[in-house]
Amino acid sequence: MNPILLRGGRLVPVDGRSVTPSDPVDLFLDQGRVTNVGPRLPRPAGVDEVALDGRFVIPGLWDHHVHMTQWAATLRRVDLAGTASPRHVLERVRDHIAALDSSGAAPDTLVVGWGYRSGAWDPLPSVTALDAVSGLHPVVLMSGDGHNGWLNTIALDLMGVPRRDTPLDEGDWFPIWPRVSALPGAAEQADAGFADALGRAAAAGVVGITDLEFDAATGTWPARYAAGLDSIRVRVGVYADQLDRVIADGRRTGDVWEGTGGLSTTGPFKVISDGSLGTRTAHCCDPYPVALQGDWPYGKQNISLDDLAAAMARATTSGLDCAIHAIGDAAMDIALDAYAATGARGSIEHAQLTTPAQIQRMAAHGIRASVQPAHLLDDRDLTSVCWPGREDRTFMFRSMLDAGVRLALGSDAPVSPLDPWLAMAAAVHRSADARDPWTPEQGITAAEALAGSTDGWGTVATGHPADLAVLDTDPLAGSAADGTAAVGRQLRDVRVALTFVDGRLVHDAR
Ligand SMILES: [Zn+2]
Repeated sequence: MNPILLRGGRLVPVDGRSVTPSDPVDLFLDQGRVTNVGPRLPRPAGVDEVALDGRFVIPGLWDHHVHMTQWAATLRRVDLAGTASPRHVLERVRDHIAALDSSGAAPDTLVVGWGYRSGAWDPLPSVTALDAVSGLHPVVLMSGDGHNGWLNTIALDLMGVPRRDTPLDEGDWFPIWPRVSALPGAAEQADAGFADALGRAAAAGVVGITDLEFDAATGTWPARYAAGLDSIRVRVGVYADQLDRVIADGRRTGDVWEGTGGLSTTGPFKVISDGSLGTRTAHCCDPYPVALQGDWPYGKQNISLDDLAAAMARATTSGLDCAIHAIGDAAMDIALDAYAATGARGSIEHAQLTTPAQIQRMAAHGIRASVQPAHLLDDRDLTSVCWPGREDRTFMFRSMLDAGVRLALGSDAPVSPLDPWLAMAAAVHRSADARDPWTPEQGITAAEALAGSTDGWGTVATGHPADLAVLDTDPLAGSAADGTAAVGRQLRDVRVALTFVDGRLVHDAR
């Protein structure tokens, strides 16, 4: 890779506290590293120079919790979330097909949509109505909870399902769902989705992700790098069913996956120890309100303390960090007990409902909080229904930082978009709409949110990886005096001019 000299960029401080950028300096990138930073660096013969024109330089951003295959698929689908009726769905499908046809796509290109909620609809959707807007395209629409599939006649025929005029309910749909990815064109669409996802990530200044996709540790990434999807670093999470194989292969956290140019490494051992808020399965110390209780009044613990500790001990002695999903406070206790019993290193993923005592334990054991601030925008109303009276114990970012817990921000894409600027804004302002901030005492500053969205290197300096984002505006310019809404807006409005990964330019929007 050729060295590059960056002329005249202002370094944004990334220590969680200071907010004043440096005077313009030059940066020399060579062999994947920042090898020099200073005013008026000499330009060796033959070295490319890029003028930053006083723009703002930050370390490249990381999204510490992503499901990349699902996110890539989401980007290619017709978005049917928020549709209010079958007619509304049909309008979106018709618009999508019109755009597809005018883009020169083949007239039989597969169309997949996702996200409608048909439970309360009257009249119900009909296949005839879907056929009327689909032309020659096979069309497969999936409900937002995944329990219902609405296919047009061409898709029914392709999948060998007897013709019918109603959507498939889960008994008929579940056996068919896995075969959607084998329909003609589906694999090409998935590849295009990855290219799209990586392009958007680079455009947001993202240089790395932790990919917690279920199959990532089976070796899916080297083939993607070989196919040119190489504009991002990927730490690949390991699930329990892959642990034997990973240990047998001698893979430790941080080890490079061969065939990825050093950009992809083995990530943490991931365990999903409880459920989620939306399904009322997050494992809590207090029961869910009686009217909402399902089979598990306190939520669902997926793994006992003994089994969790045994798995974490095995991962730890084999050189793997841990990433333990815990959303409810009872699951937090069990995860913390397992960390204490094993001396494992790593993170709690989500840490959504916590207590001050638990936060102190996280700090004492050096456990990172891998949190997704944009979830608080979606979960605000749900929390007051499912966890009434406990709102002040959710998304406790301020308390975590004050206790000395390191925050690692992420999106959990596709649950929220892979957009660190949205996450930072949510962590600062704690509201997505005109309403006042939610539990504002847990808000953090833009400087703290930025630090949590990096890989922990701090302000760009000599010796750091040449993973950089160059911004048109100063992300820390807004001050508390302007109000958190203004600071959040400023973060959401940041425009990334350039992104470098490993010293290579992967996004250029100057
Ligand atoms: Zn996740």
